Amino acid sequence: MTKIKKFESLEVNIKIDQDACISCGTCEVFAPKTFEFDKNLKTQVKEEPHDNKDKIISAAESCAVEAITVIDNKTSKKLYPK
Ligand code: SF4
Repeated sequence: MTKIKKFESLEVNIKIDQDACISCGTCEVFAPKTFEFDKNLKTQVKEEPHDNKDKIISAAESCAVEAITVIDNKTSKKLYPK
């Protein structure tokens, strides 16, 4: 299941493909204020995320299975994956 979340506190929208997520935890290292595991050990976005855009993109880039999609809030352009 792909979760799509939009947060006013972030500069970006984030989509997470939880079916693809292999629960490695790397994204949480790069953006610990944004990503966390849910009860099934699949990544989800925290209730009040507040990492900056660069950290979130780095987290997405670190994901070996490209489970995280990052979209610019203002332009709706996909920032990662390109
Ligand atoms: S880096 Fe990717 S595979 Fe690893 S926990 Fe995060 S979303 Fe899941």
